[in-house]
Amino acid sequence: MTLFTAATAQEAVAETFSYNNERFADLQMLRYQVSGFENLTLKQKKLIYYLSEAALCGRDILWDQNGRYNLRIRQLLESIYISYSGDRSTTEWQAFVTYLKRVWFSNGIHHHYGCDKFQPGFSEQFLREAIRQSDMSRFPLAKGQTMEAFCAELFPVIFDPAVMPKRVNQADGEDLILTSAENYYGVGVTQAEAEEFYGKMKEAAPDPQRPVMFGMNSRLVKEGGKIKERVWRSGGLYGEAIDRIVFWLQKARTVAESAKQEAVIDKLIEVYRTGDLKAFDDYTILWVNNTEDDVDFTNYFTESYGDPLGMKASWEAIANFKDHAATERTRKLSSNAQWFEDHSPVDPRFRKDRVKGVSAKVIVAAILGGDLYPSTAIGINLPNSNWVRAEHGSKSVTIGNLTDAYNKAAHGNGFQAEFVIDAETQKNIDDYGDYCDDLHTDLHECLGHGSGKLLPGVDVDSLKAYGSSIEEGRADLFALYYLADPKLVELGLLPNGDAYKSQYYTYLMNGLMTQLVRIEPGKNVEEAHMRNRSFIAHWALEQGRGKAAGGGDVVALVKRDGKTYVKINDYKALRGLFGTLLAEVQRIKSEGDFEAARQLVETYGVKVDASLHQEVLARYKALNIAPYKGFINPRYEAVTDNNGEITDVRISYDEHYDQQMLRYSREYSTLPLEN
Ligand code: ZN
Repeated sequence: MTLFTAATAQEAVAETFSYNNERFADLQMLRYQVSGFENLTLKQKKLIYYLSEAALCGRDILWDQNGRYNLRIRQLLESIYISYSGDRSTTEWQAFVTYLKRVWFSNGIHHHYGCDKFQPGFSEQFLREAIRQSDMSRFPLAKGQTMEAFCAELFPVIFDPAVMPKRVNQADGEDLILTSAENYYGVGVTQAEAEEFYGKMKEAAPDPQRPVMFGMNSRLVKEGGKIKERVWRSGGLYGEAIDRIVFWLQKARTVAESAKQEAVIDKLIEVYRTGDLKAFDDYTILWVNNTEDDVDFTNYFTESYGDPLGMKASWEAIANFKDHAATERTRKLSSNAQWFEDHSPVDPRFRKDRVKGVSAKVIVAAILGGDLYPSTAIGINLPNSNWVRAEHGSKSVTIGNLTDAYNKAAHGNGFQAEFVIDAETQKNIDDYGDYCDDLHTDLHECLGHGSGKLLPGVDVDSLKAYGSSIEEGRADLFALYYLADPKLVELGLLPNGDAYKSQYYTYLMNGLMTQLVRIEPGKNVEEAHMRNRSFIAHWALEQGRGKAAGGGDVVALVKRDGKTYVKINDYKALRGLFGTLLAEVQRIKSEGDFEAARQLVETYGVKVDASLHQEVLARYKALNIAPYKGFINPRYEAVTDNNGEITDVRISYDEHYDQQMLRYSREYSTLPLEN
């Protein structure tokens, strides 16, 4: 009995690409489009295909890392979801489906962001009954285990709020390992034991200047009273999954784009086989130096947010390729860096004589796996090893198609309709808003941060706690000032002299009003980026009073039907204000004028108007926007000829979230249920 409907061929054809997919609990599923995949060569498509298989084969690793019962609970829930013969219209069934989807999304039974265990919206009685009415042969019973014993073992994990309440506990003063449900440490290992174990290891490090990332690829266990590592490698813990990853990496090597890339893959395979952390550092160095190829990827244990001690890394993978059009945009800016520096409104004493722009790489994500799926970042900056970064640099990329998907989804959610003042402004934002956002980011990253210089003898840290707000504000102001410059139209980066207004409007709307949705009532603005947007917007509001052409205010907050809106009366004058503030912020930075930095940030950047805050929160709440988002992957299928040779790789986007999850469980269940 098939209870999840596979889209028929006709439906698939009829279904146009949609960014918005489905919504449950506090989550919304989105799709991302792999723009440009069709234009890749067959060899590149094969490379993406093999890397995407490698990215999916590690799925179970992350589930097991997130908690030792996760794989069994997933199989139990999926078995019921597939085979339950009872009434599927009840509210308890709906609650069951929501619970399963949340578990899928989090790769386990704890919230992906908050780390708290989900409380099911259905009863133990319901689950017991559902088990009875489902196909028992599918349940993950241990050998010889009765259904009763099975329920007795798993039910407290699912239902009892006191059992494994938090995946990662950071509460000061408690034993962070014993009180965290993650599976990086075996039963009974204490925080003191782990710290002692790794303390000794670090002391004995052969090269203290270039330490490996101790403990990052193993579980620490206690066996016969002894503390030891079970390393994640071929033949070791997670070996079954790792061998399948290696299988696909070997395929990928046959279609690598360059000898450098072959070397990267070879080294990674060596790391998977041996678990040697020195080899891992060597791999990251090869990877960081491989910048010329179009296709790139990561596939290993990477980030350590899931370990309360911040050592052990969760498994993640991404395959991607260069977005040439977007990368060309940043190249154009950085090759004109000196022109921008020479024409900036800052005092020539604070300008750089020789400025070098940074050419940022924009990538298209082709597959997301492990801890990057389905919730993911829109930028990547790796590797994490401090000494490798210092000696060999890092790769920093923005993932254009994911940003794009977030933007597209935001258009339908009513947010702008609620906060943008009128149809004319909205039209401009619809036409140019997303693009100008990207361009703002490019100007900020490629030129803004790199512009200007300190006067001789000025300490880089003289602005202390205000340093990062001032620095981010400086880069933003550089971007805002130049967005309205005819030079951008001349360079072909903007279509006309009005497009920039979309960014001016949304920037001020955000800084004066809408970013307040991220602040709790009664609190001030704390985060550096939020402070910088706030001080720029409030300074422009204040300093623009009476300065518009004809004598009005450049920017105003106006009330309509009891609601507050941002109104920009004079865009040209606003650009002038941004230029003036850029010159002042550069002066503050160049001279290390702490007092002026403090004044600017404290006066304009920190305080929150309580009644406006309350109003914005109420209007936002009424929109009922999901706070967390995640992505459904596209599906790749290899087309083969009679000899089994791949002749094409097809991409499709019509899989529903539950279909994708059940398919992954069918095709990529690489590990035993208990590890
Ligand atoms: Zn920045």
